[in-house]
Amino acid sequence: MLVAAGSIVVGVVRLGGGRLGDAREGGPSGPGGAASAEAGSGATPYAGPPNVVLITLCSLRADRVGAFGDATAQTPYLDALAAEGVTFTHAWSPATYTLPSHAALFTGLLPGHAGVLDTTDEIAADVPTLPEVLRDYGYHPLAYVPVASLASVHKGGGFERGFEAFIEGHAGGIGHSALAAVRATPEPFFLLAHFKDAHRPYLERTESDSVDPRITEWNRRMATPEGRPPDPDDWFYAQTRADPALADAVSRLYDGAVSRADADVGALVEGLRAAGRLDDTVLVVAGDHGEALGEGGHYGHQGFLQPEVLHVPLIVRLPGGEGAGTRVNDDVSLVDLLPTLLDAVGAKAPARLDGRSLLPVMRGVALPERPAIAQSFLPGERREAGPAVVAVAGGDWLFRNPATHTTVALHDDGDGWVPAAAAPEALGAALDQLPADVAPTTHPITAAEKQAVQTQGYW
Ligand SMILES: [Zn+2]
Repeated sequence: MLVAAGSIVVGVVRLGGGRLGDAREGGPSGPGGAASAEAGSGATPYAGPPNVVLITLCSLRADRVGAFGDATAQTPYLDALAAEGVTFTHAWSPATYTLPSHAALFTGLLPGHAGVLDTTDEIAADVPTLPEVLRDYGYHPLAYVPVASLASVHKGGGFERGFEAFIEGHAGGIGHSALAAVRATPEPFFLLAHFKDAHRPYLERTESDSVDPRITEWNRRMATPEGRPPDPDDWFYAQTRADPALADAVSRLYDGAVSRADADVGALVEGLRAAGRLDDTVLVVAGDHGEALGEGGHYGHQGFLQPEVLHVPLIVRLPGGEGAGTRVNDDVSLVDLLPTLLDAVGAKAPARLDGRSLLPVMRGVALPERPAIAQSFLPGERREAGPAVVAVAGGDWLFRNPATHTTVALHDDGDGWVPAAAAPEALGAALDQLPADVAPTTHPITAAEKQAVQTQGYW
């Protein structure tokens, strides 16, 4: 197991040439691919608090990214960014899908403590969100998200609170629109950009004769409401489980989708650099949750509390590239990002938090080992008993499901996660000590809104 609590390994990975532009050669091209030539030139000196950019990549599991150990990954931009920033090799999502994950990112709280464990839940009214805190600290918060993804299911859900602009756009135009907005926005700004390239279905724009016709049909059913019932995923994945060749094709398609997400990151980061806005910015790139690709018989993510769904890539680039190349092997959580970002800009954090600032460990100061926690209702399970929970630390994993009174312990033996007889006491204690989830407030979603979300593969 790689985890060594409190340890930092500096300068282990060097896959690019020290800046993102160097990694472009031979890699996928992005819409902003020409932007890097005069990086930083013409920048206006700016001495205020750093800008904050949070890029969330839907459905991106860590082990399909080069900087996180996949030697065959085509992720040149993420790999180069890892060399420019601090890489968290053991970052965990506290949720299994987009909405509760972002609720945790926005609040520094576990999803159940933020009030968002279900698709129609709202962020608790008395919980301040990251854009609100930054706005009150003088920031200009902007959000750019794909239409009918994060946005459509949370209208009225509290996710727009604090943003000066919350823009839903065509998925392919998110980066371009965000860059244009940033160039026109006074500093300091906070930008949230959400990309959904790696979300199923993985083949939205590149159907061809070489593709298995079942994949084409899956995409068609996903994109058209007439495809249901039966559920397009159920229909498709039943065949995938029974056909190794199809499973392999799906896995390769996912890798291609990951490469598109990587190109999105490259285009946006290079655009920021060209605009002279990168070195006075705290930049975070994170997967919001991962994706199961057959492990445990599962495909997709929603409700699957398993390592492939919870282990996400996380890279933080501090202003000026402070700590470039540092790799932190501690177990950390996406709930840590709000306190980390507020710490980095010198803003006061809310009193109630589940997360903690990672800034010290990025600067070489060890943090006490603390299990990362995740929560989710499993598919089709009744809600009354509360969500299933996971605690993970140091290569050990403890899963509990109060609905079925099930407990599962796993251990990472270096080659993967295998069943264990029991989990360390600290994991059980962490779950025992969890405060109760807050009573959720829900809001209705119209049939049209639900259908729009479904056709994008969400829900
Ligand atoms: Zn997501």
